[in-house]
Amino acid sequence: MISKKMSNLVKNSSAIRAMFEEGRKMALEFGKENVYDYSLGNPSVPAPEGVNRAYKEVAGNPDSNYVHGYMLNQGFDEAREAIAKDLNARFPVAFDKNDIVMTVGAAGGMNVIMKTLLDPGDEVVVFAPYFGEYKNYVSNFDGVLVEVAPDTSTFQPDLKALEEKLTARTKIVIINTPNNPTGVVYSAETLTKLGQVLEEAQRKFGHPIYLLSDEPYRELVYDGAEVPFVTTFYRNTIVGYSYSKSLSMPGDRIGYLVIPREADDHDEIFAAAGVATRILGFVNAPSVAQLAITKCLNERVDVAIYDRNRKLLYEKLKEYGYECIMPQGAFYLFVKALEPDDKAFVAKAKAHRLLIVPGSTFGCAGYVRIAYCVDYAMIERSLPAFKALAEEYKK
Ligand code: PLP
Repeated sequence: MISKKMSNLVKNSSAIRAMFEEGRKMALEFGKENVYDYSLGNPSVPAPEGVNRAYKEVAGNPDSNYVHGYMLNQGFDEAREAIAKDLNARFPVAFDKNDIVMTVGAAGGMNVIMKTLLDPGDEVVVFAPYFGEYKNYVSNFDGVLVEVAPDTSTFQPDLKALEEKLTARTKIVIINTPNNPTGVVYSAETLTKLGQVLEEAQRKFGHPIYLLSDEPYRELVYDGAEVPFVTTFYRNTIVGYSYSKSLSMPGDRIGYLVIPREADDHDEIFAAAGVATRILGFVNAPSVAQLAITKCLNERVDVAIYDRNRKLLYEKLKEYGYECIMPQGAFYLFVKALEPDDKAFVAKAKAHRLLIVPGSTFGCAGYVRIAYCVDYAMIERSLPAFKALAEEYKK
């Protein structure tokens, strides 16, 4: 018999995954070409050739015990050193290997840092719309998820609303920029103000509040958008990074946490994150992926492919009468549903063989997420379905 807690989690299990499964079934029924699956953020652009080269080089290393053996729970020194050096070259920061913890993707990193920081009942604040899995990560450590309502005019975080949600129990505030599901990039101005609000709250409540910046989409930006480095705005920032999206390798499960030296209790957090990595059962991030990624720090996926998708879909959806903001990053469009009930809208879309995800999954009802990390040709084929769906509402 599975646990009661798990039983509830299974029941409420991710709508996105459910949709993905649905897509597979529909593809069998109608043919793959006739199902327009926009449900999952699974990168469609191939990983750069350099990633494959790096894996081959690592596989050719004669020191097999090193390549495949255990290492420090926080990861290989050479991986952590290389990442710190790379970040220092790209941003106005000065990290070293003792500020970096290698993780099993962003999900692994977030679980490690929550295990490290949360006591039961501690509050974790998120800005709607947010990646629905945060709810599960917080619940893993008996934390309490606190939502800040969305500002649907810009989808930048509503900082006035944040102030009202901060309490003596707030331990972590999560941001995600570029954002899933909106594609919005938080501006330097927003981050400056956010830093001020959190500094003020720390003073008021007399303990650190950590800003957890979840950044798997950092390099996926368009029109020259800048993604400011969040640690430069607020001392108690911890960055969770992942190569899943930025190098199209979500199955490899590799990423890292940045715990800057200036963060309160840095040494304790770094040590505890190693223990958390071990006792959560990860033990360490995959060794081969750590070594491969060390050779890929200058690699980039071809974002022009996503950009082309973004432009086509945005332009056509607007033309058909849908409302949405132009995303600056990631590979999602967050579109206003054509009726208040986003789930009903998603069901109607499904009748047109369009698979999209209800905004309520992200804490933002009335919207839907369209993941455009798909083939351009599929977008072209799907356009009549989007048009017909919009026309159904005009009748
Ligand atoms: N955070 C956000 C905002 C995401 O969109 C995702 C994946 O879709 C993750 C974290 C998890 O990423 P990873 O595959 O690196 O664990």
